[in-house]
Amino acid sequence: MNNPCNLKVGIPRAISYYNNYPFYYGFFNHLGIEVILSDKTTTKIINQGAKYVVSDTCLPIKVYVGHIINLLDKECEYIFVPSIQSTGYKINNCSKIRGLPEIVRNVIDRPFTMVEPTLDKTEGIGLFDFCVQTAKFFNIFDKKLIREAMHAGWDVYNNFHSMTNSGVPYSIAIEASTTGKSAGRPVDIVKPLSVAIMGHGYNLFDDRISLNLIKKLEKMDVKVYTSLDVTSAEAISSIENLGEIQYWANELELTGTAAHFLLDKKVDGIIALSAFGCGPDSLMVDEIAYHCKERNMPLIHLTIDEHTGEAGFVTRIEAFVDMLMRKKRAFITKKSDKFISPDDVNVSVPQEIPVGSAK
Ligand code: SF4
Repeated sequence: MNNPCNLKVGIPRAISYYNNYPFYYGFFNHLGIEVILSDKTTTKIINQGAKYVVSDTCLPIKVYVGHIINLLDKECEYIFVPSIQSTGYKINNCSKIRGLPEIVRNVIDRPFTMVEPTLDKTEGIGLFDFCVQTAKFFNIFDKKLIREAMHAGWDVYNNFHSMTNSGVPYSIAIEASTTGKSAGRPVDIVKPLSVAIMGHGYNLFDDRISLNLIKKLEKMDVKVYTSLDVTSAEAISSIENLGEIQYWANELELTGTAAHFLLDKKVDGIIALSAFGCGPDSLMVDEIAYHCKERNMPLIHLTIDEHTGEAGFVTRIEAFVDMLMRKKRAFITKKSDKFISPDDVNVSVPQEIPVGSAK
């Protein structure tokens, strides 16, 4: 749709952007509202956000505030700050995500209009109500148009997910879905090791926050799986199969992903990436650590904050990958020893390996 009134909305490239941006994009676009994104996270954005909030606030919230400042510097008059309370009946977000509009209102003293709809499925406030509340800020009240915009949002969102579920990397799928295209799955290259990462999208897919964890692992020849490789149905059944219950809104993304790969044994190890001081993450990671221990699955927990240094971070990843490689080598060697054992195959084998043999 055209934008006759020159309506614009700023969207911070943080928190719910990483899960819902394709929906937001399709919705606003259909209503004729131009979307302005904040820049990608930089150290400057983090430091700006950190200046406004108390120091023990988790890193993603500091980053979120930094992105609001970035949008204000771009002279955005309307900024989208949704309050996503619960995404299902009694499936709750943490208090900071629920109270994002309050946090922003209390720490930023610059004039702008905060577009602050609420989604709270526990209280019966669903997605259509959320869309109606959003449109109201732009004086759009036509419910038929709003419903169409909601479906347009779903179309972009579903296109994004069909790409990521078939193995298209996150950044390519975002780009393609918001330009109305579809990207094909890259050629699958077999790698010697594979890991699953459990972490919030807003930590993992933000290259600055995650210190490029995915790219670093790929450079080490490790195949990486994330929540994007797991469907909601798989995540839900994996949580149930571990005997756990879903409480947090991000539980599917974290516990569900880790549980899925833990149970199907497709990976050699699990990496948990979480923000220092995050209450829900510490509970979910502890839960998964317990099940990993029971099933002998290696797990490393990496916590990040604005002071995390790249050198120490890389050393820990390298040590973990190195340990996985040694474990795998030992396993393969044990298996091949077993294969040539006279007891197993019931034939005699030479005691000495001939000089010049391939081995
Ligand atoms: S879930 Fe944790 S990391 Fe995310 S906003 Fe809440 S406290 Fe911060």
